[in-house]
Amino acid sequence: MNITGKTRIAAVIGYPIRQSRSPLLHGYWLDRYKIDGAMIPLEISPADIDEALAVLPKLGLIGASVTIPFKENALQVAGDIDAAARAIGAVNMLTVGADRNFKGRNTDSFGFIENIRQCQESWQPDGSALVMGAGGAARAVVYALADAGVSDIVLVNRTKEKAEAVARDLAPAVASKIVVKDWADRENVLGEVSLLVNATSLGMTGKPELPLNLGRLPTRAVVADIVYAPLMTPLLATAQQRGNSIVDGLGMLIHQARPAFKEWFGVDPEVTDELRRKLVEDLKASRD
Ligand code: NAP
Repeated sequence: MNITGKTRIAAVIGYPIRQSRSPLLHGYWLDRYKIDGAMIPLEISPADIDEALAVLPKLGLIGASVTIPFKENALQVAGDIDAAARAIGAVNMLTVGADRNFKGRNTDSFGFIENIRQCQESWQPDGSALVMGAGGAARAVVYALADAGVSDIVLVNRTKEKAEAVARDLAPAVASKIVVKDWADRENVLGEVSLLVNATSLGMTGKPELPLNLGRLPTRAVVADIVYAPLMTPLLATAQQRGNSIVDGLGMLIHQARPAFKEWFGVDPEVTDELRRKLVEDLKASRD
């Protein structure tokens, strides 16, 4: 697609930005739906972020995907914020309104739950879920599960205070019971769990494996990992071997981009096998 004076331009902003798959994702859909649009990566230094955000609407951009480490900055500049972003405390999608003000959304939670639904069509939000981790991604996962109707969520994290902060921050926004347990107790709760989610960075290329013996986990439980490099983490490989259904992290990355594409370019884009293949190839080529 050639860029002309009429092309609608969105950006992805982060620091660093070279690892971002947003240009690939949006580029694929722009080609597929023959839309005159573009998604450009902008690497912005943390020292310049507030100035850069202030100027984006003046440059005529229609919106921006926001990645690490700017999701809290994006929350600050958005006037109109959706419930997920408010509860999670982070914005990953900014849309420039007709009045040049930003609308902010968090679509990581949407991405997580849509991926579960696409990969495990029969999954129902009954039973309890165990979420491991208490970083930004874990916040989005816990909110997504609560919003989908999971009534009991157990949260464990190496640093327990961070898990307690997540539970405290999300509790007013959700109806679910969020119980924080010690990291050392993570295997003791497995027998009650129908969904297990790794939302830590353990299992990522270059990081240690998640230390977890799945012995007590019912084989009917679904195991999801939000790490997507590698795609088959040691946790997912073990879970699959013992007969659990598994969900890898790549779909979350793809699905979180859908609301932005729909809002900016007017089409709810399809998550195709071809798109997944392109991302897998890209991940292999960059080995991250
Ligand atoms: P983060 O804020 O840095 O949080 C990292 C989490 O991992 C914390 O809970 C941390 O525990 C835990 N952790 C790290 N090293 C550990 C260790 N040695 N033992 C036990 N726990 C450990 O990162 P994030 O932004 O939440 O991202 C987490 C992972 O999700 C990353 O791998 C990221 O690539 C992935 N992610 C995937 C998607 C997707 O679309 N699939 C989206 C976002 C993120 P402490 O609190 O104790 O340090």
